[in-house]
Amino acid sequence: MSLTQLDQVDWHTHSTQSDGELSPSQLMQAAQQAGLQGLALTDHDSVSGLQEAAEMAESLNMALVAGVEISSCWINQDIHIVGLGVNHSDTAFQANLASQMARREERAKAIGQRLAKLGYSGIYEKAAESAPQRIPARPHFAQTLVDEGICKDKKQAFHKYLAVSKPAYVKTDWPSIEESAEWIVKAGGVPVLAHPGRYKLTRAKLERLIAAFAEAGGRAIEVSVATHSPEVVQQLADFSVKFNLYASQGSDYHGPSMPWVQLGRMPPLPSRCRPVAELLEPLGV
Ligand code: AMP
Ligand code: MN
Ligand code: MN
Ligand code: MN
Repeated sequence: MSLTQLDQVDWHTHSTQSDGELSPSQLMQAAQQAGLQGLALTDHDSVSGLQEAAEMAESLNMALVAGVEISSCWINQDIHIVGLGVNHSDTAFQANLASQMARREERAKAIGQRLAKLGYSGIYEKAAESAPQRIPARPHFAQTLVDEGICKDKKQAFHKYLAVSKPAYVKTDWPSIEESAEWIVKAGGVPVLAHPGRYKLTRAKLERLIAAFAEAGGRAIEVSVATHSPEVVQQLADFSVKFNLYASQGSDYHGPSMPWVQLGRMPPLPSRCRPVAELLEPLGV
């Protein structure tokens, strides 16, 4: 089956193997209920949900694309690079992701220390309980701050403590976009610049980022994203044509607690874009 023939697809989603709320199997079931035929699981810095997702995809007769979302850095700014169609058994790739999880663990401990200094001790330990590999991402900290009655919701936890430059924010030395693109290419995958409209860059700086990403071996950018306005979608479509990049579409779904993001719900890809599905194959079990 060619993925280009599928009408309803979503190339950016998360499961409980990173900061999503549904297990990989539950995510596949929810995707089918939402009417999708193709889904990429793109957990942050992890491919550990793919086997379970692949088994469920097979039993539901859905197409799963093996994905990942790598935390990266470009000129002092955190940038996310999605890898689609990666060979998740590639040992060098797995070693690179292990190094990411080591960075995450170190950062999580530092976040815990910052929160303790602010008077909230034991948050790291509680956040770790519900986190994959016991390494909490910021949303696990946010949920724990809510559960402990310190914040009214996760949004407030980010706003008061966890977002960039807030008191419990810890800067992390993520790999450059060149490095993460290389990791993905060496694992047989397609590097995709994630949600370019979310970095709060000026148009000129956004163009420089996209140019740098194309130069680094990037092959596609996410044009259609649930949170991109119609104007941003058009602007990114223009950039995809200008820099000869394929276009991806994804919801960045994390689970039912954020009802404003739904599986498969994003603006349509403008017709001048070349869909990234042309470069992808579904994962077999
Ligand atoms: P981390 O990968 O640990 O740095 O956590 C980043 C994740 O936190 C993102 O992938 C989002 O899922 C979530 N996130 C980031 N900023 C916010 C925010 N302001 N409010 C709620 N969730 C956020
Ligand atoms: Mn996330
Ligand atoms: Mn992201
Ligand atoms: Mn994401």
